[in-house]
Amino acid sequence: MIRIPYDFSGNLNLPSYSQMVQRIMQFNNVSNIGKDESGNYDMYMIEMGNFNKPTILVISSMHGTEWMGALYSMRFMEQLRDNMFRDKAFRAKLLRNFHIVYIPVVNPYGFDRTSHAEGNNIGRYNVNGVDLNRDFSNFSQAESRNVKAVMDRFRPFAFLDIHLFGSGMDGSNGLNLIVGNGQYETDKIRNLFADSLERYANQSVVKWDGFNQLLRGLARRYMRDKSNPHTPYTLSYITEIVRPRQLSGGLDAPLSDQEIMKYGMAMMYLFFETSMGYFEQRKVELNYDPVLIAENELYRTVRYKA
Ligand SMILES: [Zn+2]
Repeated sequence: MIRIPYDFSGNLNLPSYSQMVQRIMQFNNVSNIGKDESGNYDMYMIEMGNFNKPTILVISSMHGTEWMGALYSMRFMEQLRDNMFRDKAFRAKLLRNFHIVYIPVVNPYGFDRTSHAEGNNIGRYNVNGVDLNRDFSNFSQAESRNVKAVMDRFRPFAFLDIHLFGSGMDGSNGLNLIVGNGQYETDKIRNLFADSLERYANQSVVKWDGFNQLLRGLARRYMRDKSNPHTPYTLSYITEIVRPRQLSGGLDAPLSDQEIMKYGMAMMYLFFETSMGYFEQRKVELNYDPVLIAENELYRTVRYKA
């Protein structure tokens, strides 16, 4: 079990996309990865850590209605950047040994059209009415193509796709927190992630199985099926947190905004911690010292079979 040595907190206020871009631009390494399908928004990725090391990819707000995911992941990345975690070893290990790529808003069009507790899914889709998390096999939309280009370029060994859901969704079992992985071979790692979250949040966490149940078109399916140069399996997660919705009967908010921020940041921490653990474990298994070859191009091209 991983104990989270930090009490995450913060409020959630919906910014405009241009306000998000201002926060994005406060990072040192920001790249424009292309226009969205409307042609009116630029999409961005942030890079942190050691660019010569294996990549960990995080994306959020593919559904604009789930804007809170961009907010809590952004807060986590800002605190990582600004060395605000009490747990200094976590930050040092992550930034020294890994390359972090972060796309805060995959659907800026939807992000700019949602509301704080959007009840009607306005903002879920892009300008063409497409659900982008069904487009990661056809890649018919600019947003998914822009993300695919990042996935294909860096071939991350660990991937997190951040979502939120409305209460009562199929598969949520009436609970508030979900962690889903890509393949049964990585279930132990997912369980460590989910069980540690359960302890931190003091409530049950739903575990979604990936292997036979992932639709083509889901981002995590595309990523799961993609090999990487470092580990036998590409860790590919979705996380879900129940979100507030203004419904005809009133506000439906099983979790407060503060709880969403707290558990969301805990999910980020546990995703990074368990992904680093997976990588470190492989290194030990292979008796393989990355320090010796880290700066060597060979490092990025060696492929290990399961
Ligand atoms: Zn979603």
